[in-house]
Amino acid sequence: MRVKQAFRFSFIISVILPLASTFTLSMSAPTSKLYDLPVSNNGARCRIILYKKEIPTGEVQISSPMDLGGLKTPEYLELNPQGKMPLLVTDSINIPESDTICRYLLSTYKTGADFQPDNPTSNLIARIHDMYVTTIQGCLYKAVPPFGIFGTRSDAIEELQKQLKIIDDLIDSEKHGIYLCGSEVSLADATLFPTMIFVALLLPKFGVEDALPPKIAKWYDEVREKDQVFTKVYDEVKGGIDSWESNGRWENIWMAGLRDEDPDTIFDKIISGDIPASIVHDDGKVLAFKDINAAAPAHLLVIPKDRMNLSKLRKSTDEHIEILGRLLVTAGKLANDPELGFEDGCRIVINDGPDAGQEVPHLHVHVLGGRSLTWPPG
Ligand code: 5GP
Repeated sequence: MRVKQAFRFSFIISVILPLASTFTLSMSAPTSKLYDLPVSNNGARCRIILYKKEIPTGEVQISSPMDLGGLKTPEYLELNPQGKMPLLVTDSINIPESDTICRYLLSTYKTGADFQPDNPTSNLIARIHDMYVTTIQGCLYKAVPPFGIFGTRSDAIEELQKQLKIIDDLIDSEKHGIYLCGSEVSLADATLFPTMIFVALLLPKFGVEDALPPKIAKWYDEVREKDQVFTKVYDEVKGGIDSWESNGRWENIWMAGLRDEDPDTIFDKIISGDIPASIVHDDGKVLAFKDINAAAPAHLLVIPKDRMNLSKLRKSTDEHIEILGRLLVTAGKLANDPELGFEDGCRIVINDGPDAGQEVPHLHVHVLGGRSLTWPPG
């Protein structure tokens, strides 16, 4: 009898209790929620970690922010006042920032790839991505500026390419293995890959061929082909981008869908230097020259060098705010110059369309002065 009891007791201690505690542990393991959408590149970096570590959905469940009505609803904003994705909600903390989410997942789930959280090259690439690329990535898909600190898409795209080149230079050309830091996946791979999907698919829309610099391009192709998790994330992000296509997202975005269909004008020949003009200002974006048929002692024309569909002012959109500001600021500066014939004042005129007698369909600002001008104009 005693032997039987002792056996039962030791059976409970050695078999049932550990099972029960395992069961209790997995039952009480915190269920976190990652609020994210497939197209989100910063969310996709967290998904790469979830997928590669095979973290079960019972532990971290991916949810759409639409489950709470969207990013700007009080319910979502209560969890993430930034109103952005991704957001990880755990039972102890809400984490509304992708790198911090990734590092939380890495320290919480130790199985599988460790993503080299202390590798300095990996961290440098990820940090440059977050500080200098993510902050202006909107130039690849947002309709209107600003894109980070840049007021025009072309300036933001130029900066983006510069930063990609800096990252490209950090990749060891002698490295072995398909990943950015060699044969083991790192946080840099998870961070950079989803954004490079955007760059590879969208930069060509804005006239940039060979969107990815060479070492990044080789890495991007290899991980996409050879690592199933990267293939899966590529398909998720691309699916989102493809749906933008069918939703008509690009139709009103300059270059990506919207094109200048109007014929060239005499001003294009002045810009190219094919016909002479008395040029008084050229800063690469704005050109100013003396009107050939001056209506006042001082009469300048100030024009955008890239017409960007502005054959008339009435075609302007928010994308033109920067160039329209430049035209007026340049006009004001030039009208301060007595050597150009200006005295105490000027009149700024834009003739727009037939009713105003516009002759040249390339937006131009007349700057008139050097005499007293009557009002109202005829
Ligand atoms: P709009 O009537 O379109 O507002 O003004 C067009 C202006 O362009 C006119 O004042 C006209 O004199 C000027 N213009 C037209 N062709 C030339 C040219 O070949 N050279 C210069 N400098 N001005 C021109």
